[in-house]
Amino acid sequence: MGIKNSKMKKIISVIAIVVSCTSFTTFQNNVYVCKGPYSKVFHKSDHCRGLSHCSTEIYSISIKEAEQMGRRPCRIDY
Ligand SMILES: [Zn+2]
Repeated sequence: MGIKNSKMKKIISVIAIVVSCTSFTTFQNNVYVCKGPYSKVFHKSDHCRGLSHCSTEIYSISIKEAEQMGRRPCRIDY
């Protein structure tokens, strides 16, 4: 019985690690950009100060897309 319980605990902790890694990856891969003419960066958060002056909608895109657009990480939130 004792062996079974410790095995179960191990499985649960593995699942927890996988879930937290997955959400971390999703968070890392999504960035926010403004599509205004002076926007050259991407932001980690859509509440960033750098986005408060945005004249267009704020778009959530992947970090790869942002890099393809020639965007650099925002200095405020990176
Ligand atoms: Zn920012």
